[in-house]
Amino acid sequence: MQPRIAIVGAGIAGLSAALACARLGFQTDIFEQSASLTEVGAGLQLSPNATRLLDELGVLQRLGNKWYEPDALSLASGKDMQTLCNIRIGSQARQRWGAPYVVVHRADLLGALNEAVGQEATCRLHLGKMISATTQNELTQHLKEISGSAPDLIVAADGVWSRTRQMQQGASAATFSGSIAWRALLHHKDFPALEAPGNVNLFLGPDTHLVTYPLGQRGMMNAVAVTPGGAGTRAWDNSGDSDILARHFRHWNPQITSVLAATSWRCWPLFEVRKNAWQGANRTVLIGDAAHAMTPHAAQGAAMAIEDACTLAACLQRSNGEISPALDAFVSIRDPRINKIRKRGDFNKFAYQTKGPIRMARDLVLSLRSPAGLAADMDWIYKYRLDKS
Ligand SMILES: Cc1cc2nc3c(=O)[nH]c(=O)nc-3n(C[C@H](O)[C@H](O)[C@H](O)COP(=O)(O)OP(=O)(O)OC[C@H]3O[C@@H](n4cnc5c(N)ncnc54)[C@H](O)[C@@H]3O)c2cc1C
Repeated sequence: MQPRIAIVGAGIAGLSAALACARLGFQTDIFEQSASLTEVGAGLQLSPNATRLLDELGVLQRLGNKWYEPDALSLASGKDMQTLCNIRIGSQARQRWGAPYVVVHRADLLGALNEAVGQEATCRLHLGKMISATTQNELTQHLKEISGSAPDLIVAADGVWSRTRQMQQGASAATFSGSIAWRALLHHKDFPALEAPGNVNLFLGPDTHLVTYPLGQRGMMNAVAVTPGGAGTRAWDNSGDSDILARHFRHWNPQITSVLAATSWRCWPLFEVRKNAWQGANRTVLIGDAAHAMTPHAAQGAAMAIEDACTLAACLQRSNGEISPALDAFVSIRDPRINKIRKRGDFNKFAYQTKGPIRMARDLVLSLRSPAGLAADMDWIYKYRLDKS
């Protein structure tokens, strides 16, 4: 059976799902509320579990030279800038985990996904189509009106504020995580104390952390700071008040605080969906942030969206296009994986931002661990492969 698939949302999850389905010969209609796929936002770290799938979908190749492979993930104290540990990535990522660890601008990733989808005769992208419904019947009817036929399967990839999720009875709500993400684009020369600007650098401090990594144009770096804060707005691109940011970092090393003060920041509150919301009424499945938005402490949100998309397509193939068994198999594979990744994110948040004696113990443990031991901790995340049997 060849199911007709409607995908709501053309973000990383929706476009990856369309592409993965197209590769298996399934027809998809993708409905995106925005009139064009321009992306505000920042950089992304894509770990080998995600790049392996992007490679199989032909997307990595389309990114050309727009991505970069850092040499190491380096953790350091925000107070004295002492390195606590280095996890080697670069060529080691390819050897150990079988695919590259890359950093890329979100706009470039979306551009490459969009281009790849555009090459597939079985994918139809409908821009400027906001899908709005309060019941399953209304949703099916709305999709039918736009595309000309009722879908056999609706894939809701409409992000953390998913209307499709909210439509379901007892649906999990998006809740504020208590953290704010601040983002800026820096030039290497703005941060002269940074010893290895080509690495993913993570500076840890009480209640806050700061990540930098190279991005796009030569010499530019993406900087993301995560601090406590209030929910404020849902918008994800607000102008950030440097004085507030400075207060969160007041006990940090002056070589870092001077950079923070001289930079203009955008900020947004981090919302999450803590209880996975997979299945809507029959024939509707949620993927990506719509199903399980997470805070960025494990840097796995986009990776999980891509894994969801490819797993869903594989399950449909295995069930010969039968929807119900495919969705059951999909949920049974994805639910434990997402729960485990979320736990790692929670643990990282605690470990990155802890203070007092626990912080001292953390620093000691990190500095005593062998590089191979630290890399081995990431195996279950980065070596992950879809079971396509
Ligand atoms: C600060 C920060 C840093 C991060 N860093 C990383 C990282 O390093 N690595 C990583 O893997 N992940 C990271 N993430 C997470 C990652 O960005 C998200 O998990 C990922 O973008 C989710 O993709 P998505 O397609 O599910 O949702 P979205 O990107 O939100 O896409 C949803 C799409 O649906 C459309 N839409 C919504 N409603 C409707 C509707 N009613 N009708 C039609 N269209 C609709 C939207 O316009 C949008 O295009 C980070 C997140 C944050 C906040």
